[in-house]
Amino acid sequence: MVKETKFYDILDVSVTATDVEIKKAYRKTALKYHPDKNPSEEASEKFKAATTAYEVLSDSEKRSLYDQFGQEGLSNGGAGAGGFGGFGGGFGDDIFSQFFGGAGGSGRPRGPQRGRDIKHEISVTLEELYKGKTSKLALNKQILCKTCEGRGGEKGAVKKCTSCNGQGVKFVTRQMGPMIQRFQAECDVCQGTGDIIDPKGRCKTCNGKKIANERKILQVQIEPGMRDGQKVVFKGEADQAPDIIPGDVVFVINEKPHKNFKRSGDDLIFEANIDLLTAIAGGEFALEHVSGDWLKVAIVPGEVIAPNMRKIIDGKGMPIPKYGGYGNLIINFTIKFPENHFTSEENLKKLEEILPARNPLPTIPKDAVVDDCVLSEFDPSKYANNRSGRGGQNYDSDDEEQQQAEGVQCASQ
Ligand SMILES: [Zn+2]
Ligand SMILES: [Zn+2]
Repeated sequence: MVKETKFYDILDVSVTATDVEIKKAYRKTALKYHPDKNPSEEASEKFKAATTAYEVLSDSEKRSLYDQFGQEGLSNGGAGAGGFGGFGGGFGDDIFSQFFGGAGGSGRPRGPQRGRDIKHEISVTLEELYKGKTSKLALNKQILCKTCEGRGGEKGAVKKCTSCNGQGVKFVTRQMGPMIQRFQAECDVCQGTGDIIDPKGRCKTCNGKKIANERKILQVQIEPGMRDGQKVVFKGEADQAPDIIPGDVVFVINEKPHKNFKRSGDDLIFEANIDLLTAIAGGEFALEHVSGDWLKVAIVPGEVIAPNMRKIIDGKGMPIPKYGGYGNLIINFTIKFPENHFTSEENLKKLEEILPARNPLPTIPKDAVVDDCVLSEFDPSKYANNRSGRGGQNYDSDDEEQQQAEGVQCASQ
């Protein structure tokens, strides 16, 4: 016994009509009254009514609610947000287009779901990013069984489960006083698979499971100049499963740190440690580039290189993808000063003659107390928590405490 028959009447089918009969009836009515074919107001109303009726009767969950409780049951039962009651203009056309061309096909209201992406990190050296390379990577993935093309059996042997309308789950409704409770449960008829396979026609390769495992080799093309974090995407290469659109396999480039170079976009940074004589009197230094070539770099005599000075070598950075050309190589200079006591008093005299004169002292007020101090060794381990990383040469001597922390011994005059 059904509570009311309005929707069945609209489609002109009996209350015991099968899914196929309902589908046929809707097709007939919709074609007759579709606004494209029949622009009258009355036809438009009939088209909308038929679409509403079909939307309910083609959905096993909604149909069972309707049969038990009538139209009221649908609105009370909360047949899903946005599902029923408030459908607007585009809705009827969606269902219509599923029948007569256009999108749709799987019969699910929201269309097939998209599977998960598979993400892999791919570690690449700076040298490899400079030259580019092809990495072959094996991917173990799930595919649709090739024998049965993911159906689970021979063509005629697989039928959509009518109990759950192929969804694999059913909504069970129960009246609890004035409330209607709904539960989602695995379909007991098809055990959640969404279809019924005749045992005689069941696929022997996958035993009806529809899926198989496959090992596939993917060739990941690392283009010259690619950057850390950049992605190489293989569209639709992730796991296959019935009724889903496979996700992508995504390789994310992980640039390995380099012992000599740092990277800054298309530019490379190199720390060049040169000796004091080269810094002042000129000379050359050499470095092995990520291209594999060696670069011999001249320092012009007389052009003084100061500590932390930066210079550029044009076009010796990373290749620039798409635009072509190369970034620059930035040279960061550190100067290796001679060890203590490197030279004789005689040579120091020579240096005094050669180098620019010493900086004069600031003017000390005549009435100031002046302490004469000498430097002693700085032990960084003793000052680990105290201004670490500043080396000790750059201390401001604002107060007594800091002067002591620097290891400066003072003697009052
Ligand atoms: Zn089922
Ligand atoms: Zn199979």
